[in-house]
This record gives sequence, structure tokens and C-alpha cells, in this order.
Amino acid sequence: MTDTSCVFCRIIRKEIPATVITETDSLIVLQDIAPKAPIHYLIIPKKHIKDIVAFEDQDLFLAAEMFMMVQSLAKKLSGSGAFRLIVNNGSDSGQTVFHHHVHFLSGKKMLDF
Ligand code: 5GP
Ligand code: ZN
Repeated sequence: MTDTSCVFCRIIRKEIPATVITETDSLIVLQDIAPKAPIHYLIIPKKHIKDIVAFEDQDLFLAAEMFMMVQSLAKKLSGSGAFRLIVNNGSDSGQTVFHHHVHFLSGKKMLDF
């Protein structure tokens, strides 16, 4: 399931270039185009799901796969191994791309919230 106007769907279809960190049948992990930390990845389901609220029971395994992708990325970190996850859900939270994604940030101290 894709959306013709969605930037992440267009990247998944290879219509727009992006730096791909890793990819599975169901997920793609991109370098964020405007990184907020030395490591700033976006973990994105290939299925177009607009936000967490739009997840359905059939997406349960996909949600678990996203979590396990976090673990896989974390295992490759050097240094302290610390990382921060951010999910913006809805425009008032700062969501700008309405295709669910998890921000994976690392490589600097992030003591402010
Ligand atoms: P949101 O604000 O929706 O939580 O996060 C959207 C993220 O997608 C932002 O951090 C933004 O920099 C990133 N982004 C937007 N357009 C593109 C793009 O075309 N390519 C990549 N790699 N990242 C993008
Ligand atoms: Zn999409």
C-alpha cells in the first residue's frame, strides 16, 4: 500500500534518492535529510500508515519488526551505545511527514528533552 504524494512512499519506490542505511521486506531505514544528531536515522514501514493511531491489528508484527530494527541499529553503535527514539504523532507534535516513522538519534549527549 503506497500513497502517490507521500515523500517516504516515493523514496521506497526509488522515485526520490535517499541514503538507505538498511532495508528489509517490510522496513526501510534512511539517513534523515536534516540530521539533528551525528546519527539520525528514520525507521519507516514500507506500508503507508499515516501514524500510530492508524495501526491496525494486522500491523502488530510490523510494529514488533520496527522495535527489533531499533535493537539491530543499537547493536552497531560505537561509544556509549546510547540512543534516543522520537515519534511525532500529529501536526501539533511536530509530525511533518504523514507516513509513520521512528527517529533514531545518537552520537551526542541529549540531556535536554
Ligand atoms: P517528522 O517531523 O514528521 O517527525 O519527521 C520527518 C523527518 O523526515 C524530518 O526529520 C525531515 O528532515 C525528514 N525528511 C523530510 N523529507 C525527507 C526526504 O526527502 N528525505 C529524507 N531522507 N528525509 C526527509
Ligand atoms: Zn507513505
